[in-house]
Amino acid sequence: MLPVIALVGRPNVGKSTLFNAMTRSRDALVADMPGVTRDRHYGVCRTGERPFVVVDTGGLSGVDEGLDALTAQQVRLAIDEAQVLVFVVDARDGLLPQDRSILDELRRSGKPIIVAVNKTDGLDLQDALAEFTVFGISRTLPLSAAHNRGTEELIAAVLPLLPEDAHEELGPEGDQGIRVAIVGRPNAGKSTLINRLLGEDRLIVSDVAGTTRDPIRVPLERDGKRYTLIDTAGVRRKARVEEAVEKFSVIKTLQSMAAAQVVVVMIDARENLSDQDLTLIGHVLDEGRALVIAINKWDGMDTYQREQCQRALERRLVFVDWAKQVFISALHGSGLRELMRAIVRAHTAATRELGSSDLTRTLERAYEGYQPPLVRGHAPKLRFAHPGGSNPPTIVIHGSRTKHIAPAYRRYLENFFRQRYKLEGTPIRIDFRDGE
Ligand code: GDP
Ligand code: GDP
Repeated sequence: MLPVIALVGRPNVGKSTLFNAMTRSRDALVADMPGVTRDRHYGVCRTGERPFVVVDTGGLSGVDEGLDALTAQQVRLAIDEAQVLVFVVDARDGLLPQDRSILDELRRSGKPIIVAVNKTDGLDLQDALAEFTVFGISRTLPLSAAHNRGTEELIAAVLPLLPEDAHEELGPEGDQGIRVAIVGRPNAGKSTLINRLLGEDRLIVSDVAGTTRDPIRVPLERDGKRYTLIDTAGVRRKARVEEAVEKFSVIKTLQSMAAAQVVVVMIDARENLSDQDLTLIGHVLDEGRALVIAINKWDGMDTYQREQCQRALERRLVFVDWAKQVFISALHGSGLRELMRAIVRAHTAATRELGSSDLTRTLERAYEGYQPPLVRGHAPKLRFAHPGGSNPPTIVIHGSRTKHIAPAYRRYLENFFRQRYKLEGTPIRIDFRDGE
């Protein structure tokens, strides 16, 4: 499972700036769900050798009263969730009493701590660090998050502190079947769906200690096909009321996506498609996973409501128009056969083997049909292609001046390859390389 690091520190020291520098691209997943502390951001850092979840513990700025209590709570949650703690301090403010109390709290956890001394831009680095050496923490690094300086070094310092990648007993793929994560906002119907799927086939649920914080893997067999469901909803734990608040865990969601081959994003047809839904889908793309969109609670909706819903989906999900949308009722069990079929198809597409000569021929055809626009009088050239991996299918294209290829042309090629190889249900990666 993806390891987790937390950014902790006073307000305004630059945590969210650092978070953005580490996770880049996508919007953060925000735990603003009922029962979950507000304003905690989650993303995945993929720039190092090993991906990990970054938690920005948060937006406390603007809150005056109860700051200490809130900070303490924030720090405790971070300590709880993370395996490595990055303590961010502000070189311009210098060492403040609140920093000391935060550090005391961090130390009590016994977890590895890195001190990131931020806002060192324009300062003498040695001077900036000197003040914080009283902490006695050897891993103290200068940083300028706003100028993206020092982030690489910080990531390099984090990596060796992460827990060993516990080799998951995945076994040969044939044994496990297709690994499927079912994710979605609270109340979308994830637990109902999983129970439905399991109940129908009277599945043996292997016994897992109830205390586990990792997503649980549940084997499933349906119509003679094997699957492993990676359960984030906590189906089995749901009976235990005290864990109800923990039901939606962003970390588990990110971890289960990373562990899956196909991700089913469940959307509640009765709610408007939310930004959180779109952000979840964005993370599936970042992770390169095959995607199926299940629109749940389709029962009891009239024609007008269904049309409204379908129109909204069409409008807002154009960026994943290759993903199958399946309309289901987890409660009544309708649409499930189609759902499973979509999962199998997406998996097949995501793991399809592509041959070099065929890819090159397809590339030539695409190139003949439409050439990349000239850059200062010269056209980027595309020469040949070969496969670069699967899940997601990756196509490596060799040529020259490829860095001038516009996003629109990349999309054109993606669509061309998608149609040629019927890659429905999976994102595609295209890597351009210059030279031979
Ligand atoms: P947070 O409250 O800890 O999340 O802090 P923010 O990331 O919101 O940053 C607070 C302020 O510090 C913002 O105005 C940032 O632009 C600024 N800031 C963040 N990083 C740096 C940095 O490396 N150098 C400088 N000079 N300012 C920074
Ligand atoms: P989760 O938080 O995503 O695991 O959602 P649950 O499975 O707990 O479902 C939330 C609520 O929606 C429960 O009251 C379910 O009975 C209800 N629900 C789930 N699926 C359906 C469905 O297909 N149709 C209808 N009408 N209600 C559903």
